[in-house]
Amino acid sequence: MRILVCGGSGYIGSHTCVVLAERGHDLVLADNFSNSSPVVLERLQAITGAPVAFRQVDLRDRAATFDLLAGGGFDAVLHFAALKAVGESCERPLDYFENNIGGTLHLLQAMQAAGVKRLVFSSSATVYGDPDRVPVREDAPLRVTNPYGRTKLVMEQLIGDLVATDPGFQAGVLRYFNPVGAHSSGLIGEDPSGPPNNLMPYICQVAVGRRPRLNVFGGDWPTVDGTGVRDYIHVVDLARAHADALDALVRDGRGFTVNLGTGQGVSVLQLVQAFERASGRPVPYDLVPRRAGDVAEVYADPALAQQLLGWRAQLDVDAMCRDAWRWQSMNPEGYGAG
Ligand code: NAD
Ligand code: UDP
Repeated sequence: MRILVCGGSGYIGSHTCVVLAERGHDLVLADNFSNSSPVVLERLQAITGAPVAFRQVDLRDRAATFDLLAGGGFDAVLHFAALKAVGESCERPLDYFENNIGGTLHLLQAMQAAGVKRLVFSSSATVYGDPDRVPVREDAPLRVTNPYGRTKLVMEQLIGDLVATDPGFQAGVLRYFNPVGAHSSGLIGEDPSGPPNNLMPYICQVAVGRRPRLNVFGGDWPTVDGTGVRDYIHVVDLARAHADALDALVRDGRGFTVNLGTGQGVSVLQLVQAFERASGRPVPYDLVPRRAGDVAEVYADPALAQQLLGWRAQLDVDAMCRDAWRWQSMNPEGYGAG
């Protein structure tokens, strides 16, 4: 297939491009580099052995987005492009609505105008908020707790409305749990700008000496050891799910919404210990009060993805830590020094 990958130079998009290229798809990446580096394109070329077709486009620019789709001959679009920082979304909600919802609207309109009818969309477990029970199934109530989550929910609904009115339009909505890790080459990985909001990149930066200690947000949660429990999923497993989702859309002709997680809950301290084992480095930490808006325990029921996509996660927490550390130790300053 000829595939447009919006947000293709970002963390999950770049890993997905590797898998798609390995499966013989023809790719065009589009990104505005608002949260990624052009160095990613060189790294992708080094991994795949072929030049990367790239268009610098901001999806907020309607005309440029239409131009991107028009005459591109795309069989499908993968849509990763979004702002994703929960805290920032609370400070600047309108920017999140404009970028995520506005950009998606332009993309859907441009797809419709160009007659491109197959979409795989990056949603998030954040749409479940604080779930009543774990593991979380796809039919759990949706109740978002911050503007970022609201953009994901609205985008899912926009896509659902389009599918309902255009029978030829197929969408695979993928609700990611907590993506971590990196490609085994160590050439691409997660490179947050500023202090990381998420646990794994923070652990990596402590281990590599960029930050002195980890703050563990709360030791009094009703969990196995008092720290928060999440479903960490290796980004390469996640990437593979996108290729499987495309195949499922082609094969079955029907859309779907599925969780992408391992089904295993892992606590903050369990992840810290696994990382110390994998890296051989200490990760000193302090127990500090809970972070506002956090929840105790979220992990997926991944059965539907297995049933509909034939996909399930294969890489365990040790592999996630090993590969995150390889990336971090080979690129202590991320792509900045690349
Ligand atoms: P990322 O920031 O690394 O990648 C997103 C890419 O989109 C970046 O390269 C950014 O420059 C680009 N982008 C943003 N707005 C754009 C615009 N208006 N026009 C063009 N390009 C634009 O993030 P990621 O971790 O790879 O996440 C990919 C997707 O998965 C996002 O939609 C995110 O909300 C979703 N998601 C991520 C996580 C996570 O923990 N990483 C969890 C659940 C869902
Ligand atoms: N966390 C932490 N210290 C950090 C970042 C995160 O203790 O510096 C905890 C957080 O409270 C949660 C878990 O790690 O229990 C995962 O947090 P992350 O932000 O990575 O994912 P999310 O909360 O969005 O699922």
